[in-house]
Formats: sequence, C-alpha cells, structure tokens
Amino acid sequence: MKEKYINILMNSNFESKKTSKELMKKLSDRGYNPTTTFSENAELTICIGGDGTFIRSIHKSNFSQIPMVGINTGHLGFYQEISSDKIDEFIDDYSNGNYTIEELKLIGAEVFTKNRSHILTGLNEIALKAKNSKIIHMNIYINRNHLEKFSGDGVLVATPSGSTAYNFSLRGALVHHSLEVMQLTPIAPINSAAYRSLSSSIVIPGNYIISLIPEKRYINSSLLLVDGEEFFFSGLKKINLKLSNKSIKKLIFSQDSYWNNLKSKFL
Ligand code: NAD
Repeated sequence: MKEKYINILMNSNFESKKTSKELMKKLSDRGYNPTTTFSENAELTICIGGDGTFIRSIHKSNFSQIPMVGINTGHLGFYQEISSDKIDEFIDDYSNGNYTIEELKLIGAEVFTKNRSHILTGLNEIALKAKNSKIIHMNIYINRNHLEKFSGDGVLVATPSGSTAYNFSLRGALVHHSLEVMQLTPIAPINSAAYRSLSSSIVIPGNYIISLIPEKRYINSSLLLVDGEEFFFSGLKKINLKLSNKSIKKLIFSQDSYWNNLKSKFL
C-alpha cells in the first residue's frame, strides 16, 4: 500500500497547534500519513500559519518540489489558500483531485564578494540596502546596459508573487504570477539637484540580468534582504539578479483565487 505521507509544518501559535491537531486526526481517518518531520517522500506539504510561516517553510525545505498548500491562522495569509474553519472541504477537494498546481517563480541572486561568489534564492524579493539606515549609492545595469546611478534607501527586485508584498508598499505594480518577469523597485529614491534616481518601478523580462554595483565605500556596509531576512557579506562587489530556473508548486482550489485574494485582502 502507498504510504500517502503529508508533511505538516506550522508556527508555534496556539491557533496553529490546535488546527494541526485537528487536521492530523482528520487526515489519518482518511488514510493519509501526516508527519511533522519533513519527509522528501511526501505527496503534499501543508503549512499552518501566516505568510511568514509559508515563506520560512519554503526556505527550510530548500525549495522542495513537493506541492504546498497553506492553512491560514495568521493575519493576511496571501499565500494561505485555506481558512482554518474549512479543513473538511479542503480534505474532500484534495482527495477528489479538485485542485490545480500553480508554479511560483523564484528570484535568484549571485553575490560576488572580493574572494568568492554566493547564491541566494527568494520567493518574494531580494533587496539591497545600506546598513544602519544610511543612504546607498549604486550603479544599476540591465544586461550590462547602464540604467542609472541610484541614490536612496535601496532597491528591491520582486517576483510576481512577491509583488503584493514589500514591493506593493513601495508603490510597485501588482504582477500576475503567470508572467515571467521581475520588478525593480526603488526604496525611497532621491531626486534632487545632487542625485537623480528613477522613482518608479521597472518590469523586466525574467531572463535578463539586473546588476547592482554598490559604490566602493559601501562594500562593507550594505545589506541584502531575502524575503525579509538580512544577509551581510563583507567585500560585496556586485549582485546579479534574474528569475531562477527553480519554482515552487502551490495547490489552488479555485481558478478565481488570485482575483478573489486581491479583492478580499487589498481592497
Ligand atoms: P512580517 O511578519 O513582518 O510580514 C510582513 C507582511 O507581509 C505580512 O502582513 C505578510 O502577510 C505580508 N506578506 C508576505 N508575503 C506576501 C505576499 N507575497 N503578498 C502579500 N503579502 C505578503 O514578515 P514575514 O511574515 O517574515 O514576511 C517577510 C516579507 O515581509 C518579506 O518578503 C517582505 O515582502 C515583507 N515586508 C514588507 C514590508 C513592507 O510592506 N513595508 C517591509 C519589510 C518586509
């Protein structure tokens, strides 16, 4: 008999623990094998919590190709398709195959320091800022074409699914996740007699390379943000960003969920 493993990942909130207990019992009753120890042999990963839990689960599972679905016990729950009072409907729909799988593109960065390079991957965005809330000056190239010398708090490169997150707060555009593009969005760009920086976002084909080259004095004082987590590299020389070849798989139960989500969570 097939093992039918289902990974259950959650945050430590009371509501998430309660939901997980109920979910695990119901899944076992339906012949599934729920496990809180991540198994690479699982057919599905269910993530209980808010968007932060979903994002951290994606990173912790090293961008696993096992389809994921989220049960929302957090606030906004943009990634969390299922509400915690609809567990029975969810198990019915899943068991009956009433779902489709959508692929969410990831953003990849190659970070060059004095002596080596590092790879970073994000689901929402990767941003470059100055440390200690200072202004950063950097040159930005698109496929080696010089775009601008940017001055301001920093810049962010968002995936389509990250366009509703930090990017949206910065007045970036909402981009449907079926589009293979990335969005370069300025964070508090300075426009004065001294500095000229683009003040709007630019949408760029996903296979183009965006290069961010901080001025020399920032090589030891800039900060990378990947999905809200800070990374510091000493001797940071250049960052090349493009949409990653990797994606993650997310279950959706309604073809209209994207538009319903936008309307109910942002308007
Ligand atoms: P967090 O707990 O501070 O959550 C930030 C908010 O972003 C939450 O309301 C969450 O629901 C929402 N969010 C996350 N991904 C989203 C998405 N794709 N679409 C719509 N909303 C989304 O931090 P966290 O939970 O660890 O999440 C990290 C994310 O927070 C980062 O990837 C970044 O996009 C976002 N963030 C936003 C701002 C801002 O809007 N000013 C600032 C920093 C970070």
